[in-house]
Amino acid sequence: MDILKILSRGTKRSANQQAIQKPIAKPSNPQLFNDPTRGVKRKRNEETASTLEADGDLDEINFFAPRVAKKPSPEPEIQEIPKENVPKPVLDEEEVRQVLRSHRLKFTLLSSHEEKKKKVKKSKKKEEAKSKAKDVKKQLFPQPLTSFSELRSVYNISTRLGENLVKQGYRIPTEVQLGSLPILLQPDRAIPTSASEELNFKTDNGIDFLAVAPTGSGKTLAFLIPAINNILRRKAGDKAQKEHVLEVVVVAPTRELAHQIVNEGRKLAQGTGVKIVGMKKGMQIPAEGQVDADDGDTSGSEDEAGSADDDSEGEQKKMTTTKTDILVTTPMLLRNYLKSRTLPTVKSLILDEADVLLDPLFREQTLGIWSACTNESLRLTCWSATMGSSIEGLVLEQLKSRESSTVPLIRLVVGLKDTAVPSINHKLIYTATEQGKLFALRQLLHPKSSDGSMPQIRLPFLVFAQTIERATALHDELKFDIPAEAGGSSRIAALHSSLSDSARSSIVARFRAGEIWVLITTDLLMRGIDFRGVNGVINYDVPTSAAAYVHRVGRTGRAGHEGGMAVTFYTTEDVTYLKSIANVIALSEKQAGKSSEESVPKWLIDSLPKVDKDEKKKLKQRGVESRRGAKAAKITTQSAWERRKEHNKRGAIAGSKKRKTQETVNDDTQGQDDSEWGGIGD
Ligand code: ADP
Ligand code: MG
Repeated sequence: MDILKILSRGTKRSANQQAIQKPIAKPSNPQLFNDPTRGVKRKRNEETASTLEADGDLDEINFFAPRVAKKPSPEPEIQEIPKENVPKPVLDEEEVRQVLRSHRLKFTLLSSHEEKKKKVKKSKKKEEAKSKAKDVKKQLFPQPLTSFSELRSVYNISTRLGENLVKQGYRIPTEVQLGSLPILLQPDRAIPTSASEELNFKTDNGIDFLAVAPTGSGKTLAFLIPAINNILRRKAGDKAQKEHVLEVVVVAPTRELAHQIVNEGRKLAQGTGVKIVGMKKGMQIPAEGQVDADDGDTSGSEDEAGSADDDSEGEQKKMTTTKTDILVTTPMLLRNYLKSRTLPTVKSLILDEADVLLDPLFREQTLGIWSACTNESLRLTCWSATMGSSIEGLVLEQLKSRESSTVPLIRLVVGLKDTAVPSINHKLIYTATEQGKLFALRQLLHPKSSDGSMPQIRLPFLVFAQTIERATALHDELKFDIPAEAGGSSRIAALHSSLSDSARSSIVARFRAGEIWVLITTDLLMRGIDFRGVNGVINYDVPTSAAAYVHRVGRTGRAGHEGGMAVTFYTTEDVTYLKSIANVIALSEKQAGKSSEESVPKWLIDSLPKVDKDEKKKLKQRGVESRRGAKAAKITTQSAWERRKEHNKRGAIAGSKKRKTQETVNDDTQGQDDSEWGGIGD
């Protein structure tokens, strides 16, 4: 019996398969974990539990319960409330611990603030034991947010900012929000003085922060609310400061994600006077220092020739400087602009998808931006769903080398590190060969003609391919599969970094609007992108690391939406990838409280081959070797049974024309690394 085949078992067959299924939008609770009985032996604190349950009933009227609702004011508005008048946080120590446990939040102090003592040689064992004991000690228990209304009543955020939150329908804070908002808004209020005194750190100048929380769990709001509010707070303190001064830089790995953050930010900051801008090629921002005359600002490997914002250097010089409070950028764009210039006014650097930004691929640019932020009170926050210990180590080292030893680096982990969100259903499908994948994908697209062996997956969905070439080829192969009466080839698109910026934006907008139902893409879209209605993710080519799996499948099941399906095809060649993916699935299902071994039995995981570190690194960087290069991009079936049904001659000609132009583009880029991360090049 083929052991690989068995991984596909357990697939539930749908009794009632339909031809093309439209998405169903279901209201959901954005919280992933809330078990008030967790970790409680016998005694349950009823009061705390009821506070939490009541959150679900919050409505717009009582959102700012302690204050009388009033009309939005046009000006940025924060009233300085004397500290002694601000109500004390509501939970006592035991209640705090219980809420943190129930929502699976764990805070750890990563930095060390002990005064240097004379080194005394100790045996290794003793040291290990001591550091273990210290780790336990270093766990922190800051006040969580029990409801959004506390943002105003306890943490004194801007009225307008709070109203904007309500307007967008946010009612219950997600775990990462309830954990991180208090310590980012007012660390001295949220962290007990006893803890900072004991561990020798100070919070009056803010904290450096690292948050590891599941995909789709609302990290964007968790960093944008404090960013906007801190700017408003400083503006309120300085009446003359109506002008926009660049205080916050948000770095994200792709343009799509940067655009999304700008959009979220603008909705939140509406009417507050805080300006948020996305960095563009050729844009001038207020930076200090000179750049050599022959150092153009537009150098660098911009990946699309002739894009709309591709200004000549001469034109740039005439351009005025863009003033803004918050700048959102990809690492390459800002790094190329800065050269040796600095950003002395920036007080907060936010790294979204920090582990990839600090991965060797983007490390130089990201660290370059970081060192250009020369302000002494610069604080750093890092956000991701996955975070390796080497990345944490790097952050700690960098921080040590630049700032006062009293500023703490605190890490928040929500749930189990490096797992997928509990609301996703995982399926591994063995297709034996490459051709088998195409056949399987067609079955998913046309459930009526399926032999019943495939899971049911609702449109719209995302399909991930390993390279740009493969995404293009798969698109060419499938684009006539959707019947003309359902919208035909306009319902399916491919999105990758060889397209122009405007083509990329247009595809994203059409997918968001529900016009595109199947979006074939590469790892360009695996991180951060929030498409609310995505019902499924298909890994046409296996993801090449556990983190890649977590992020790709995390495009579904966002904000607590149930029923997202993650299907991964694998062939005999993919065996080296399976163990880490199967482990992620098993751990995620365990965390979700699903019956153990639902998708992958333990004995099977044990029988999969182990992959050593070097091989893992190679896989991550290069993907499956046989799927690289132009030849490997060919994705086709001989039978072409589906094409016969839908294809018309005109469509076929148009398709082959597109293929030819695409091949020319691909030829131009040959010789470069064809993996997507190598090709973003903003
Ligand atoms: P992450 O960065 O953690 O992957 P996002 O910040 O992109 O997640 O948020 C995912 C989705 O959840 C977005 O559509 C966002 O609007 C929504 N969301 C965020 N916070 C809440 C909340 N408290 N209640 C409901 N939905 C939320
Ligand atoms: Mg995000």
